Amino acid sequence: MPDCIVVGCGFVGSVAARHMAERDFKVLVLERRNHIAGNMYDYKRDNGILIHKYGPHTFHTNNKKLYDYVNKFDTWFNYRLKCMVNIDGILTPSPFNFQTIDDFFEPSAAEQIKLSIMTEYKGFTEMPVTNLLTDKNPLIREFAGFLFEKDYRLYTSKQWGIPPEEIDVSVLKRVPVRFSYETGYFNDKYQIMPEHGYTHFFSNLLDHPNISVKLNTDAKKYLRVDTESGKAIFNDAPAEMPIIFTGAVDELLDYKFGILPYRSLRFELKDIPVDSYQPAPIVAYPQEKEFTRITEYKKLPDQKVKGSTTIAVEYPVQYEPGSGTEQYYPIPTESNQKKYEEYRNALANIKNIFLCGRLAEYKYYNMDQVLERALELCSILDTVYGLS
Ligand code: FAD
Repeated sequence: MPDCIVVGCGFVGSVAARHMAERDFKVLVLERRNHIAGNMYDYKRDNGILIHKYGPHTFHTNNKKLYDYVNKFDTWFNYRLKCMVNIDGILTPSPFNFQTIDDFFEPSAAEQIKLSIMTEYKGFTEMPVTNLLTDKNPLIREFAGFLFEKDYRLYTSKQWGIPPEEIDVSVLKRVPVRFSYETGYFNDKYQIMPEHGYTHFFSNLLDHPNISVKLNTDAKKYLRVDTESGKAIFNDAPAEMPIIFTGAVDELLDYKFGILPYRSLRFELKDIPVDSYQPAPIVAYPQEKEFTRITEYKKLPDQKVKGSTTIAVEYPVQYEPGSGTEQYYPIPTESNQKKYEEYRNALANIKNIFLCGRLAEYKYYNMDQVLERALELCSILDTVYGLS
């Protein structure tokens, strides 16, 4: 009989399982899918290329504690992701930078735009496109307007399934334009990939005599959650046994307050008999009608395979429970957040269930952010159960 249940074998579930196992709990991890590693799962195709099943993943953080944590369980190496965008058939860096100005403007106009930016934004390395769209200088506005019409508006509309004319510039706050020729996608201090892949890293993380993992198992079948009496019970185990839940809260409570909506993705995988398909691991196609980007896994990271490559074409689709689509991006509207709060409030008086992770918190987290949440959860578990 276990004395701690973990629902979900993704990043949060695996970190929490390891933590409890190291504190002498017999941990049973239940995972609905047929593999460990959650959305970070990777595997080798027949052509020998390692791919990420749920979309391209690069670990990046400024937090040394998180960097040290992942390095305890496997070897990681430095990897700086480079992305490009195809506009009018021309490949330009993403985030957009001074090269983009050179790519789309006549040389003299390009020089003037760059000079205006360097003068006006002295001391800044980048700025959201929204700031540039309202700049007092018409040259800078023209450049930003070009990017908005040819990329941001189209890409965002496709990604979220909203007509282009309804895209509000305020949703683009986070996407910067670089004021240099710097081409790395992320700015973080630590940008790394696991030497043997994410699944291998997870095998090491879960490799502890106190951890058992049961795949192809929906925890819902074994969990009884009674919000009235404040009890969450796994099978016939004692009611106080800790249950760490990293699945979706609306599923957990049988959608009693309605479905929490998500945007999903469909990946079309193609093995192609060429050495190289595109010049960067990820290329975005804002002007294509159906798909948003193409990932060439052979370059994420560089893999020494001759005569073949594998690409994933990424199509944004609506998430529908039970249809085989995955919950990828929560849709952060006020009414969805309210609905989520209803679920959390209903579960608030159940003291032995701990909700954590992108699904349980209905929040988009990068891997470093979700690892931080998992480590916070570990401290909470230590406090609640008097562990150290
Ligand atoms: P998950 O990894 O989803 O784990 C939850 C697990 O619980 C799943 O395996 C699920 O099957 C299981 N589960 C759910 N319900 C049940 C149930 N009832 N019974 C049993 N099991 C259940 N982050 C980065 O930092 N860098 C990137 O480059 C990056 N790229 C991304 C690309 C895409 C397309 C997406 C969508 C996300 C990306 N992320 C990236 C984010 C990253 O995937 C997440 O931060 C991370 O996977 C979240 O971990 P988690 O443990 O919360 O969830």
